Amino acid sequence: MSQTDPNCLFCKIVEGKIPSRKVYEDDDILAFHDIQPWAPMHFLLIPKQHVASLAQVGPEHAGVLGRMLALAPRLAAENGARPYPEGGHRVIINTGDDGGQEVHHLHLHVIGGPRPWRKG
Ligand code: 5GP
Ligand code: ZN
Repeated sequence: MSQTDPNCLFCKIVEGKIPSRKVYEDDDILAFHDIQPWAPMHFLLIPKQHVASLAQVGPEHAGVLGRMLALAPRLAAENGARPYPEGGHRVIINTGDDGGQEVHHLHLHVIGGPRPWRKG
């Protein structure tokens, strides 16, 4: 693992300085439940390395991003999403102010479970 930003909330979660309810972890990726879930299942998938947003992603991040996307349906199925196609889930990457991004450490929202949802 490499760069972290000492002022970044999600870097602090990666380092265990702020507690989180973990969904998945490997050398490069962490998934944890969102503190304000929109739906019965709502977790965030992040690279452990600090990358501010999707707008900062370059070819060097393609591997970890691909792995994060490929993990999303597996972790969704293990955490309360019904199987595709009746079930499924939503993946959202808010990017920048106009994109509704509040935490500037790249993250995928993975949202699902039986409707109704609180949001989305
Ligand atoms: P954004 O709006 O940047 O796409 O999403 C940030 C998400 O992080 C929000 O859904 C918010 O609820 C979640 N969040 C903010 N602070 C914390 C925290 O301290 N712990 C956890 N688990 N989630 C957080
Ligand atoms: Zn960070």
